[in-house]
This record gives sequence, structure tokens and C-alpha cells, in this order.
Amino acid sequence: MQSIDIYRANGANERQQVILFAAAEDQLPATLQNAGLQRAAVGVLYPLGDSRFALNIGTPLTPAALQDAGAAIAAGQKDYGLQQLRLTLAPELPADAENWRWLLFGLRLGAYRYQHHASATLTDPTLPLASQDAATQALCDWANLHAEGVIIGRELMNKPANILYPESFVEAVAQLPFRHLRQEVLGDEQMAELGFGGLLGVGQGSARASQLLILDHHPANARHTLALVGKGVTFDSGGISIKGAARMSTMKFDMGGAAAVVGAMRIIDALQLPIRVIGLCGLVENMPSSRAQRPGDVVTMHSGKSVEIISTDAEGRMVLADVISYAQQRFQPDYLLDIATLTGGAGVALGKEYAAMMGNDEAFLAQVTQAGQVSAEPVWPMPHGGWYRGVLKSEFADYRHGGEDPHGSPCVAATFISEFVQPGQRWAHLDIAAMSTDMPHRKLYANGASSFGVLLLARLSSLLAETEH
Ligand SMILES: [Zn+2]
Repeated sequence: MQSIDIYRANGANERQQVILFAAAEDQLPATLQNAGLQRAAVGVLYPLGDSRFALNIGTPLTPAALQDAGAAIAAGQKDYGLQQLRLTLAPELPADAENWRWLLFGLRLGAYRYQHHASATLTDPTLPLASQDAATQALCDWANLHAEGVIIGRELMNKPANILYPESFVEAVAQLPFRHLRQEVLGDEQMAELGFGGLLGVGQGSARASQLLILDHHPANARHTLALVGKGVTFDSGGISIKGAARMSTMKFDMGGAAAVVGAMRIIDALQLPIRVIGLCGLVENMPSSRAQRPGDVVTMHSGKSVEIISTDAEGRMVLADVISYAQQRFQPDYLLDIATLTGGAGVALGKEYAAMMGNDEAFLAQVTQAGQVSAEPVWPMPHGGWYRGVLKSEFADYRHGGEDPHGSPCVAATFISEFVQPGQRWAHLDIAAMSTDMPHRKLYANGASSFGVLLLARLSSLLAETEH
């Protein structure tokens, strides 16, 4: 289809047309000139009379460009009060379903803005996209669902830590419209019995109880099992190794890994993907107090290994190590992936172009990379093991959890986590710290949280569902 007609659920009758093309700046293809369009601009909508707009998607035509074009149209709709749209791809643009999906996804998500509420309930007042044509409606359904997954993640991330803390995170997720997903929560006492010394050591300085949220999508026709482990530090003060004051308010975003897992589980459950996917969110608040963990403390992890604390601000790896240890012991997954806003060093190395990816299985990492590429959530391989392992040597315990200096911090963190991955377990680790917020180069990312990772995890699940081995 080269043209589709869509509207927002209670849209007005007046229809506007947007013609999308890809060209060098200020170059209007002859086809559009023949259609009576006189001017265009890169990345913004211009009224062109006769209710027609032209939008230059730019080149090359990537998922990111399509998502951003959709978000730009959403912004234009707001400015001009548009409700009904005819979208037309210029003849030189391939009008396949995948391109339409990302364009509509951007249109749907671009209309969303975070609004503060005094409760942790996840809200989304924006209207879904709809069409009277069945094939277009199927595209809209896909776009609405994937945008909803990302919006769930953004709602969880943007909420302040006085409203969203481990227990209210669990309550907010319990209200989501899952179809068949089984939900389970382990509290402080259960985790203490099970030996979660790393996770509970992080949470012990906070008045808020720690939680492990388990979301189990277990269809009868599942051939493989994937465990997704998300870091959910609902606020990270750094603990006794307290952070500087600058930008500490952004530490409410330190549960972006857990938020991405929840958003992806909404999509996986709605699509009923034929793969068992277990989402595990390790939820804690990292605070200084007289009960807080100290540098130099030695804790016994869920795996039984002892760890010497060097900085109480390197808390995410302690949470992840315990949860991946538990996930392997209980579920024996074929694939294990952890995702976390883990280190500032990932952003120092890669900026905002890629999230850092480590792991131990080339075929699995290739699938993670592909899932990121096709959904515009790109990842780049980084090393672990080797020299970084030396940083973890302790005189007082089996390991230190990090070093005193920042050399190779994302790689040291991944190496520490790898020590809790069992032999033969396929494992990938995503450090999304730099990608969780401040992404103005992408129109899709509004101010606040991006919820980077939702799309990648959902696509990875569908890729693995189709995999033979
Ligand atoms: Zn920290």
C-alpha cells in the first residue's frame, strides 16, 4: 500500500494529507512537484495549502528515520489540530508493512507526554490509532501495542521515587491488562530465606522493602525459555558512597532495565509469542542510613560466593548477580539476558549511538544485535573477562565487586556479573545507562525517560521463538 487512511479514536472529520519522501535537504522530487507541492523541509511539517503536508524522512530509510518521521507528524498534528490523516509514501519509498509499522509506531508514541499523578498507577491519555481498512487496522494494532509497551516503561521511569518504589512498582504492574501472564512477588523475608545477600545488602539502608517481581509468560507451545533480568533500583543515592548533588534527581531512572522488561512483557503476552519468557525485576532503593551497607562489608550472594563491597554505588551488579543466579537455578533458561542502567562508563565509551553489549555466545549475541538493529535500539559489542577479572581479586572474599578507579567500568561490571553465569549458559548483558534519558537527537524520545530496550527485548523474543536450536 502506498497510501493509508488512519484516525485517532474519536477523531474529527476533516482529513489532512501527509506525503512522505526521502531526499536531500530542500529537494522536492518531481513526483511531488507534479502533485502541486511547492516546498518542503527536513524534519518539520509545513502547511502547503489544500490540507496537504510534505515531510522529508531523510535518507537512508531506516527504522529510526521512520519512527522519527511518525513522531514529527504527531507533533504537527498537535500544532495544527489534525485528527484524520492520509499518509502517502512517495513512489520511490518502499511501502512494505515493516516501514508502515514503524511510521505508525512513531506517530502513536509521539503523541504521548508524561503527566504527573500522585499515584503510581500507569496512565496514558493519548488515543490509539485506528482505520476503517482491515489491513491498515492490523498495522495500527501493531503500532498501538508496541507504543503501549514503551509508554509503560516510560511511565514507570518518569515517576518520582517518592511515588514509585519497589512495592508500588509491583502494584502498578499488577494493574496492567496482561492476558495470561502469571505474576509472583518475593519480599524481603522470602529473599532472605533464599539467600539473596547481594540484593538485600543494597536495600537494607532504605525504609522501603525490596521486592523481586517475576512475570512468567508460559504458552503451551513454547520450545525455548528466555529469562530477562532487569535492574530496578527505584532510586540510587549511591548509598554510603553517596553521589554528588549534580543531576542526582535523574537517579529515579535507575530502574530503566526493569521498566524495559515490564514493557516488553506486555508486548510478548499480548502477541502470545510461542516462547516461554520470564521477566525478573530486582527492585530495591539504595539509600544511606545507619543500617546501610558500608564499603568493606562482605556479603554472601545467592550463589554462595562472598563479595567485598568497594563502593556502595556499584549496587546494580549486586542486584543483577543475585537475580540471574536465582533465575538459572529455578528456571534453567536456554537464554539469559540482563539489562541495566549500569555504568556511566558505557556512555563515556559509546555516547548515545549504542548501548553496550557483552556476552558469551556469538549466535545469541548476533540475535540480540539484530533485534536492536531492526527496532532502532542499537547495541555494540564490548569485552569482558581477561584483564578486567584481575580488578575483582579480593584479599577478604571470593571477589571484590569492582575497583577503586573507573578504568573499563562497563567491562569490569560485566565481568563481575559473568562470574554468576553458570557454565554452558547462553548469556547477554546490556548496559543501557546512557540511553535511558537525554536523547534529543531522536524525535521519538520526548523529554524524560526513553525506555530504551522495550522494542529490542520484544523483537528478540520473537526471533528466538523462531529459532531451531
Ligand atoms: Zn549506583
